[in-house]
This record gives sequence, C-alpha cells and structure tokens, in this order.
Amino acid sequence: MLKAVGFISVATSIYFLFLTLPQNSFYHSLFISESFSNNESISHHLYMLTRRPHIAGSEANAEAAAYVLSTLTSYGVPSHIAPYYTALTYPVSRSLTLTLPPPQPPLHFTLRQEIYDGDPYADVAGEVEPTFHGYAKSGSAAGPAVYVNYGRVEDYATLAGMGVNVSGAVVLARYGEIYRGDIVLNAQAAGAVGALIYTDRKDYGGEKWFPDDKWMPPSGVQVGSVYTGAGDPTTPGWPSTEECERISEEEVEESGEVPLIPSLPISWADGEAIIRSIGGQVADEDGREGKGAGVYRVGPGPGVVNLSYQGKQVITKIENVIGIIQGGVEPDRFVILGNHRDAWTFGAADPNSGTACLLEVAQRMWKLQKKGWKPRRTIIFCNWDAEEYGLIGSVEWVEENRQMLESRAVAYLNVDVAVAGAGFDTSATPQLDELLVQSAKQVLDPDNSSQTIYDSWISLTNSAEIGRLGGAGSDYSAFVQHIGVPSADIAFGGSYPVYHSMYDDFVWMSKFGDPMFRRHAAVASIWGLVALRLADDVILPFNYLSYAHELQKSVKQLEGQVLHRGLTLVPMINSINEFKKAAIHINDEIKALEAGSWTAMRKDGQEVSELNDRLMMAERAFTDPEGLKGRPWYKHLIYAPAKHNDYGSTSFPGISDAIEKAKSLNTTESWHSAQHEIWRVSRVITQASLCLKGDLT
Ligand SMILES: [Zn+2]
Repeated sequence: MLKAVGFISVATSIYFLFLTLPQNSFYHSLFISESFSNNESISHHLYMLTRRPHIAGSEANAEAAAYVLSTLTSYGVPSHIAPYYTALTYPVSRSLTLTLPPPQPPLHFTLRQEIYDGDPYADVAGEVEPTFHGYAKSGSAAGPAVYVNYGRVEDYATLAGMGVNVSGAVVLARYGEIYRGDIVLNAQAAGAVGALIYTDRKDYGGEKWFPDDKWMPPSGVQVGSVYTGAGDPTTPGWPSTEECERISEEEVEESGEVPLIPSLPISWADGEAIIRSIGGQVADEDGREGKGAGVYRVGPGPGVVNLSYQGKQVITKIENVIGIIQGGVEPDRFVILGNHRDAWTFGAADPNSGTACLLEVAQRMWKLQKKGWKPRRTIIFCNWDAEEYGLIGSVEWVEENRQMLESRAVAYLNVDVAVAGAGFDTSATPQLDELLVQSAKQVLDPDNSSQTIYDSWISLTNSAEIGRLGGAGSDYSAFVQHIGVPSADIAFGGSYPVYHSMYDDFVWMSKFGDPMFRRHAAVASIWGLVALRLADDVILPFNYLSYAHELQKSVKQLEGQVLHRGLTLVPMINSINEFKKAAIHINDEIKALEAGSWTAMRKDGQEVSELNDRLMMAERAFTDPEGLKGRPWYKHLIYAPAKHNDYGSTSFPGISDAIEKAKSLNTTESWHSAQHEIWRVSRVITQASLCLKGDLT
C-alpha cells in the first residue's frame, strides 16, 4: 500500500517537472486542430453504421457492433464486447380502424411508413420493424376518440373541467411535451382503454417534407418505448447476465413502470383523420385550428377507434462495446465517454451521429498517442446497446460494475444524438459547468468559424445556459442518478422532425442535419477536449461553487411552495451554506497548490491524489442507499426524473414527490413525510460538504 502511494508520488512529481500543463495543452490544442479533424471519415463511419435498420437484438445491430469494435481496435484501443441478456419486445401484429357515423365508411389505417421515389434505402426498408411502442401492453381496445392534447396530468384536469369523460375512451395525444410512456400511463390513470400518440404536423411538419425538406412526411411515425423504468425490467437493480434471477412479467406489470393499456404511435396523416372525426367542444389550447385538420375538438367521439396490438417479449442478447486506453499515471481513475448504437430504424441522427463522433475521438487520440501523448488517467469508450428500450445496455453495465465505478469513475460524458442541427446544447452536473465553458471557448463554431462555440452559445441564449441531468433521456441516467458520477451530455441542435422515424437516415443527415459534417467534427472536438482535460489535468477540473449556486437556486424555487404549510427549509438552507463554504475552501486549496513552488509540489503526490479523491467523491455523497421513496433505483437525491414525466428534470425529486402527495392527502402524516424528505436532502448535502473538506468529525 505504502509502496503504491510512493510510486504515484514520484510519478506525479516527474509529471509536474516534464509533462506539466503546457505540455498537455499542446496535445489538447492539437486534438482540436483542423489538421487532426477528419470530416470525411466521420461521414464514412455514419454511412457504414446506418446502411441497415438496426434495432437492439437484430443481426444488423450485431454487424454495427462488429464495425465499432474493429474500428476502435484499428485506432489502437483494446476493445471487447460486454454482452447482456435482456427482455426486449417486438411487434407481432397491429391494426387500427376508425368507425365514423353512417353513411361514412370505416377507415382502416395501413400503419406503414412510405418509401419515396429514389429512396436509396428502399431495398432494406422492409427490415424496419412495423411501427410500435416498446413494452406496449398486448391487447385490443375500442372506444370513442378523445383528443387529450399532450396527455399531461394538467391536460386531463382541463378536460375534467370541461366535463369531458375519458373513461372507456381511446385517447389521441400529440407528441411533444412529456415522455411517451407517461402519456400512456396518464391515459390509463384517467380510465382510457387505449392510447394513440401522433406526430402533429404543426409541430413536426411543413408545407414540404423529406426528401425535399427536413420535415416529417405524412406517413412518418415516431416509434419509441413506453417503459418508464431504467434497465432490463426483469432484473431491477442487478445485471442481466446469461444465467440470472428474473422477475416475472406479472411482477413487471405490478411495478407500475409499464402501461396496462395498449397503445400505438401514428403518423400526422392518420392523426389528422382521427381529429376530423372528433366533435364536441373546441380544444382549449394554443389556437390549433387552421392548417391541416382544421379546428381541434375534444370529443368524446363520434368517431370510434378500434386498436389492437400484439407484441412478443424475448430474452435477447445485447452487446455493449467497451474500449480502454490505460492511463499512464493514475490507471485506476476512469474518464468514461458513452454513446448508444441501437436505433429504432436507421438512426443517422439518433444515435449514430454520436457513434461516428465517438470513433472520431478515438481516432484523434490515436494520432495523439503516435505523437507521444499518453493519458494520465484511464479513458474508457462505451458504445451502448438497447438504449432505446430503456437505457438498458448502460444500466446493466453500471449495475454489474457498480463497486469499481463508484470508487474509480471521475466523470461520465454522454453523447446521444450528436447532431440534429445547429446550436450547442449541453447539460451537466454543476461542478463541470466551468470546464464546459472553458472548452466551448476553445472550439470554433462549425456554423461561423469567425467565432467560438462559446460566442455563439451566449449570443443565442444570452448566457451559457447549461441544462441539468434530472431527466432519464439518455445513458447518463445510471451514472448520475444511480451511482452519483459527475456527468455531462453534449449535442448540436435540439429536437428534429424525423426523430425515431424511418426517415432518420444518412440522406436526411447529409442534406439537412449536417451537410459538411462540420458539426460532427465540432462535437468530437468539444467532447474529446472535455475528456482530455478530465484525463490529463493534474488537479481535476471540478468547481463545486457552481453546484452550491445551483442548489441555492433550486431551494429558492421550493420556498414559495412550502412556507405556508408549516414546513421548514432551514435545515437545507443551512446545509447548502456549509456546502458553499466547503466549495470555496477546496477552491482555495487548489489555487494554493497551483501557485506553489516546485518544492512544495514535490510532496504533492499524496496531497494531489487526496484532493482529487475528495473532488471525485463529493458527487457520490448526494446519493442515498435507500433511494427515492417508491423508486429505490434512483439514489441521487438532487437529480432524478419527475414522477409524471420521465424526460423532465427536477431538483430535489423526493421533496417534490412528497409535497405533491401531501397536497392531495393533506394529512399531518403526509406533511411530516415531506419534512422528512427535506431532512434527507439536507443530510446528503452535509455529507458532500464533509467530503469536500476532507476532515473527520
Ligand atoms: Zn438516442
């Protein structure tokens, strides 16, 4: 043990002497230089990865895994496959009919996405799975159609206020505001017997559409999962290895994380046909009338919808590709880059724009290695499988490697859809804010090379706005919300119209998403640069003062909600104040170390690694072994998905849940529980302060 510490100490001081910051910044500048970036090979990777539709579990996705594995290996990254055996669902049969008042004949929908003249993927279009919802309930449903807007809890409250009864109806909801699994669960809670979710032309369509424009064609359908949990639903909390314990389908249904009514995703053309069949009061929302279906009415009926969906659940082998560049000085510290590979269809934007960038990062790091660079810490590339079904590949891997990751992971950097258009878009746990800003100041804007990404970012949003990782939108979820690893998510462009449809292909990307592949190259630059800083900086580039400010902001938002109920936020306010002091203190320590002379630095092998451990572990302190009440997999008490919207990012989700419940029950006990949640959050914040300070009480 002592010997090991001694070794690190000597190695670190040598690093300070010869390979200190100026040397690293030379390599880091080279990494983002024009000469290192290769738009052509990015475009080639994307083309190769998206030749065939490659849903998780398919032969085409195994081919794509082999491509990633061999490419990483050819870039000098020793790589392997980490397989899991997971319960995935596939469609067997579907039908949808709309019965209209006589004399109109019933409408039978084909539920087929059409190929277009000259579609280069016409020959493999048949390999696209029929449009469906992953983990949808098999069964039939018939009832009058009710239009429920976005299908949020408040939309049902509005309908109730209008006297509209949803019970026994088949609801029609439009995509856009909340996670589709929550749309179906909310419909179920309102008493609906089935749910249809369509892509509204006013949100995703235009006068022209793909291949002539970027918009969704009339027959385009956004498929996707309706599972609201994370990871293989049959192995909650443990890895889906080949021989492992599994819970039954009945137990999965009891978990409340899969809907119990059937659902189907449909196109805007089909959605409009159903809207035209709905009478009753005019929908109370943002002036939907006009283009397309005319005035939107809420129903119920008179149009009656008959829907049926039959799916099968199969234990399926999935494959994460894992590549590792060993660190030279601290091989037991991990900087992890992750992106998923599986796609509902061709996946050019979602997710393989990210996969192409991951391979580009690996290639540039290979070039750096040939110039003599070696990372100080270990860099791990992860190409996840079955993300689309419910973050399955990443969750199973984190569950299997939990101890190692908890003690060794410095940060996780996710890229899902790398490019869907213009504009830098990032979310992170707050101690990474400063590093993201610094990196954005170094990389040129791919759409305006006279300025940096940072310049464009602030001119667009007025401030360098960074989102938070409370939602369960991608593979960072297990890292942040289950084990408390500092994480970031990086992209260019926000939502895009052909999302999860058959038209998310290479043609769309090279015509509309990123014709010159410059945005891809920029994502690779900033993603790789952030990783290089985390891997090479002697002192980890974390600033917890941003975290303290963020916590103060979040607690302010709570204040209005709780004051009049006799609840007190004082324990939280106190713990955040302490945390802020601890953050200032550790920042001062860092400054002192950096300003210190070489002699002072020499004894730092231990000092620096002790300091880095505190910086790394402080995020872990926000997790609680018991997790959120009723959702024990979510251990992080600051960031987790909102209860009724898996995409939504909430701070203090346990407190919000408890207050929501107390408001509806209004019992002494329920308000007491809300206060208990406030205390729990205060305690994890205190743990984080103690960790940053590094003193024992
Ligand atoms: Zn994705």
